[in-house]
Amino acid sequence: MTTLEPEITSMAAPIVAQLRQHFQQGVARSYEWRLAQLQAIVKLLDDKEEELMTALMADSGKAEFTAYAGDIVFVRGEAKHAMKQLKQWMKPRKTATPIYLQPGKSYVRPEPLGVILIIGAWNFPIHLTLGPLVGAIAAGNTVLIKPSEVSPKVAAFLTKYVPQYLHTDSVKVLEGGIEETTDILAQRFDKILYTGNSHVAKIVSAAAAKHLTPVTLELGGKNPTVVRADANLAVSAHRIIESKFANNAGQVCVAPDYLLVHDTIYEEFLLLLKQAVVDFFGDHPIDSNVWSRIINPSHVQRLKKMLVSGETFHGGDVIEEENYIGPTLLINCRDDDPVMLEEIFGPILPVFSYKNDREAIKRINQREHPLALYIYTEDRQAANNILDACNSGGSCINACTIQAGNHNLPFGGVGYSGSQAYHGQYSFDNMSHLRAVIDKSTKVDPAGNYPPFKEKEIAL
Ligand code: NAD
Repeated sequence: MTTLEPEITSMAAPIVAQLRQHFQQGVARSYEWRLAQLQAIVKLLDDKEEELMTALMADSGKAEFTAYAGDIVFVRGEAKHAMKQLKQWMKPRKTATPIYLQPGKSYVRPEPLGVILIIGAWNFPIHLTLGPLVGAIAAGNTVLIKPSEVSPKVAAFLTKYVPQYLHTDSVKVLEGGIEETTDILAQRFDKILYTGNSHVAKIVSAAAAKHLTPVTLELGGKNPTVVRADANLAVSAHRIIESKFANNAGQVCVAPDYLLVHDTIYEEFLLLLKQAVVDFFGDHPIDSNVWSRIINPSHVQRLKKMLVSGETFHGGDVIEEENYIGPTLLINCRDDDPVMLEEIFGPILPVFSYKNDREAIKRINQREHPLALYIYTEDRQAANNILDACNSGGSCINACTIQAGNHNLPFGGVGYSGSQAYHGQYSFDNMSHLRAVIDKSTKVDPAGNYPPFKEKEIAL
């Protein structure tokens, strides 16, 4: 007689079960364990920096500076900040107790959630995996990382080195594409942090809903950038061009997506933008050491289709064999042109003119809430009026993208650009359950606290 072995259909199930078992043993809860894991992340980045830089640049043709600053420096900074703050973050947070609950003490006790799933995207494949890992570990959880298959060398790097540096029962890496991620998402987690596009975010949310798992969604969108007539034009042009193009050739979720420039300065500003492109990247950006390549041929094709929009004011060069698209300024685009129908996520910048703030606000609000909204102006009241009128995940006045680099600020979207936020203590809180506790004294126990209540007390 043969016994029928149950067919093992899930790669992820036993791995998640191990992570859960380890979480339940309570090892990940101690301060010492958390600190040691955070130190291990820093050591991994220090020891393997060169190998990691090679993987980052080979996967995406990313410029050296972008890979170093956007991935390695960012995560190292997050980990070191968490190491410094960990004791403080873990402490119960005292809060007031209203008179009718006295005598007693009230406090919030941050608790680990359990097993966390982190699904990363390709454009900053270390930032978007080890970055949230810092918060997940600091909060005392066990973690499964699913790196993007679109950056395979970095995914292989994580598979190789995470088990060598971090506690193997508590932090695991599973590589794969749609099929493997679908299998992973069928498992029960206590939180999922997903970074990527809004379409997949719906798939992730639907899978999470089956287990009532809370989800942090770090998505993208079309980030408007308003340049008012009173802006410092030279500085604004420099900052916009640097943040749009020098950083991974626009393949950044918080990059400015389109510009709204006041019509009285439109012509002048266009020339300043063009001059900044030439000053920063030369006449042949392909030779510039800060110019990144497009991640792969399919994204080159996606972006190429956008180049038919409006008129090319500057750039527009495509060299498909090199996954190269040069810094491009478009003018005279329409809202139904390909470049305005989806997030650009590449080195193309359409520039529109507008007549007054009301019109700019209306145009911004015609679209889904963006991840970022940027306003260039010397008039803080006008900037605040625009902030009041338009929603966005984050914002800068007279800058772009830098809100993502300050670990004292929450980083996240709103509506279609995401939900919830992380970075710094926001990561710790995101990956914790903030448990409410009231600790009552038994020394005083008024009879009036118990039934039968007098009519006046019931009315209260
Ligand atoms: P991607 O192709 O790397 O996909 C992201 C993740 O989703 C990957 O791990 C992938 O395996 C997984 N995935 C893809 N299809 C899936 C499916 N059908 N089911 C389950 N999982 C699936 O990255 P992307 O989506 O091209 O990333 C670009 C987008 O991410 C842009 O919209 C960008 O703005 C956004 N983004 C946001 C942030 C942020 O922090 N808010 C950061 C980077 C990128």
